[in-house]
Amino acid sequence: MEYVAIPGLPFPASRVGLGTWAIGGWMWGGTDETESIRTIHAALDAGVNLIDTAPVYGFGRAEELVGRALASSGRRDRVLVATKCGLDWTKGGVRRDASPARIAREVEDSLRRLQVDVIDLYQLHWPDPAVPLEETAGALDGLRRAGKIRAIGASNLSVAQLERFRAAAPLAADQPPYNLFERAIDADVLPFCREHGIATLAYGALCRGLLSGRMAAGTTFDGDDLRKDDPKFHPPRFDQYLGAVADLDAFARERFGRTVLELAVRWILDQPGISIALWGARRAGQLDPLPRVFGWRLDDTAKVRIDRIVQANVTDPVGPEFMAPPSA
Ligand code: NAP
Repeated sequence: MEYVAIPGLPFPASRVGLGTWAIGGWMWGGTDETESIRTIHAALDAGVNLIDTAPVYGFGRAEELVGRALASSGRRDRVLVATKCGLDWTKGGVRRDASPARIAREVEDSLRRLQVDVIDLYQLHWPDPAVPLEETAGALDGLRRAGKIRAIGASNLSVAQLERFRAAAPLAADQPPYNLFERAIDADVLPFCREHGIATLAYGALCRGLLSGRMAAGTTFDGDDLRKDDPKFHPPRFDQYLGAVADLDAFARERFGRTVLELAVRWILDQPGISIALWGARRAGQLDPLPRVFGWRLDDTAKVRIDRIVQANVTDPVGPEFMAPPSA
């Protein structure tokens, strides 16, 4: 494992963090609580010490499972808990609400569900156009000063929004979408964060499983699984992305003796300005490849080859915009 310092946190964070959206079940076709807790324990055993969650993941369920897993692990003091605020599901459907009043309630709910006295990294999940960013940032800074959270983060913000946010509160970290197939932040957010010393937590490291190597043309998804609505998993793009995955896998095996999954996570960690890759897992065995992400690096020649493979296959690229929740 590699570790990285994040301003305001008491010890360095693992450069692979465990993502717990799928553990919440909502938008992932359900969850298995016992297996979820085993997964969190497996991550800690493998050297992961940062767990990313959110109230909206399973409407409290992911945070509760993280809380139970931490309590039974006896390792709370050695784990960094990152959660979020600013999405409301109590009025029918998920809506953005980053008002100070909602955040004041949310933080107490998160502390209770997570069974902790302080949240290490508290992140605005999505900007809320109905609330000035300065108000939201001020509310988060108030929580920091009150000792309820240690550091402030944001997610899904543009550079202009990051500018406004950090003028109103100390911004330790940003959490944008980033993986081999979703690289919009290369143009602006990533250079901005590098310039201003803002840590970056790249979400969707495996592009929702597409980069795991498990997917095939006949792969289907159950229940409310978000990949039913993800344009990458539908014609004509699914074949293009699967073609890229196959070629990346062949390249990874031939050049590094690794799989496409290991290559995909390594690729994120080797991008200048990226602090942490958030890897979503909901079964302990899904973390088995984790050690093989470390102990090697991608050089510039390999990165160029990877870019060419993606460009040659994915002729009709699409981003993760389909995931954005509606405003109030
Ligand atoms: P991801 O990490 O790209 O993919 C996770 C999925 O990949 C898993 O649920 C699993 O799906 C599959 N997978 C994982 N390991 C595997 C393995 N070894 N073999 C085969 N398949 C494997 O997607 P993500 O969970 O959306 O993103 C990671 C984290 O980022 C989230 O959990 C969350 O903490 C954070 N996130 C934040 C935001 C935001 O707005 N801030 C948005 C999205 C995500 P199956 O079990 O179905 O196979």
